[in-house]
Amino acid sequence: MSQSQTPDRPELAAIREHMIIDGKPCTEGSGQTVPVYDPATGAVIAHQIEAGPAQVDQAVQAARRAFTGSAWGDMVPAGRERLLLNLADLLEQHGDELARLETLNNGKLLPLSHGLEVAAGAQWLRYMAGWATKLSGDTLSLSIPFPPGVKYNAYTRLEPVGVVAAIVPWNFPLLMAIWKIAPAVATGCTIVLKPAEETPLTAIRLAELALEAGFPPGVINVITGRGEVTGAALVAHPGVNKISFTGSTEVGRLIGRQAMDDMKRVSLELGGKSPVIIMDDCDVELAVQGAAGAIFFNQGQVCTAGSRLFVQRGIYDKVVAGLAKVAESLTIGSGFDPATQIGPMVSARHRERVMSYIDLGRAEGGRVLAGGQAYEGDGFFVRPTVFAELAPDARVVREEIFGPVVVAASFDTEDQAVAMANDTRFGLGASIWSNDLNRVNRLVPRIQAGTVWVNTHNMLDPHMPFGGVKQSGIGREHGRAAVEAYLESKSVCIAYPAT
Ligand code: NAP
Ligand code: MG
Repeated sequence: MSQSQTPDRPELAAIREHMIIDGKPCTEGSGQTVPVYDPATGAVIAHQIEAGPAQVDQAVQAARRAFTGSAWGDMVPAGRERLLLNLADLLEQHGDELARLETLNNGKLLPLSHGLEVAAGAQWLRYMAGWATKLSGDTLSLSIPFPPGVKYNAYTRLEPVGVVAAIVPWNFPLLMAIWKIAPAVATGCTIVLKPAEETPLTAIRLAELALEAGFPPGVINVITGRGEVTGAALVAHPGVNKISFTGSTEVGRLIGRQAMDDMKRVSLELGGKSPVIIMDDCDVELAVQGAAGAIFFNQGQVCTAGSRLFVQRGIYDKVVAGLAKVAESLTIGSGFDPATQIGPMVSARHRERVMSYIDLGRAEGGRVLAGGQAYEGDGFFVRPTVFAELAPDARVVREEIFGPVVVAASFDTEDQAVAMANDTRFGLGASIWSNDLNRVNRLVPRIQAGTVWVNTHNMLDPHMPFGGVKQSGIGREHGRAAVEAYLESKSVCIAYPAT
């Protein structure tokens, strides 16, 4: 589609049905294509190529050549910094097109696409650009006493780990692609990224913009297709040195096992069932709005969604009634409509999955305080839903739903709150709502989670490490921790005569 045909729909002109391998568009695939949908209408908007083993091999070989080639391998750190800064500028220049493309493909509210895909994407690129010139090893004083007359000088060098295979989910497609690409290239790695089959479109545009920004061909490759075909071939490829995966705990476990067989480096950012703990001394109105935002933001399709709500008994009725009122008041519709507060689920399949959990919650004895029914219309919508009175072992309480569904329960004591919050296999995020500093200080160390927010929820920053404990994953993204995950430390030990 040419730009001139679509002056008022820049997102349509941005649709690409090819992959980017070795700096060039690639239209060869396994022979299969995978449809891409507009989740607000159910219409097919594109057909993505499915990369088979041959294209996966081409992409990994291209990344290997780029890694050792002089254009990238000999580039000084300030060169990598400059390219990342160029890409951040291009992202902003194309911000309207990219935000609209994301809303079209993912369904999220357009202001969120602007703020959290494009603007935050540019912020992360600039943050990681800064790291390129600030990587340093250590000088080491050794105590080796022999042979007589010999001394040692030792230091560590930080070296890029090599070719990175990155696999991302569909909930923040552009931002998560950047969370993988930015630290990888800041450290001098090259990368092959596979976006989720539901949302490939902005990642392909990002790879095109990276070429425009000056990244040499083969440094950033994007291949598309289904996880069990394209993703599995990428993970298994012997030319890959590190796998960086964000997605479900089930697929993460598979990938982790495979990575260990080949001794590939691996980072896993996985699922969650994050608790929101509301203490009776909190600002109740702030806590109600906070609990609603924690679960309904991005339709609950957030790995740290506050999907389990625990409220101290004295204010339980008030908080839960307030949350149900917010849930019922939210306007459902297309992400392009400025009045919309809840967009569609990403796919028909995901809507069915979320609806089946809502039915299950009712069958498990849950009382529905808001939502609970299907939403009529062509798009993949689900009503924000609040459950109460479910037993702690109900599946709706224990399993990640990844939709706008929250389960509420009350507690009396701090000990009970901690026990209930930690009664899960996950450990990604948690929030505590309280104005009692002593309580907060007692609770924070006892909560099993990679991030604990206080009087806020779901807030991320490029400088703040993010990741999970327990079955929510291994490793951290953002900050120094993310950069280190793309580096190997090489110890250098030099002997020299003492005199
Ligand atoms: P998913 O099914 O695990 O898929 C994630 C990615 O892995 C997709 O690109 C998928 O491809 C690919 N994949 C699937 N099977 C694979 C295989 N056998 N080998 C290699 N790759 C494979 O997760 P999702 O449903 O897209 O996303 C939701 C999940 O992601 C939730 O559990 C959520 O909590 C988690 N998540 C975690 C974080 C975090 O930072 N911790 C952030 C966001 C989401 P297809 O697209 O073809 O399925
Ligand atoms: Mg999937």
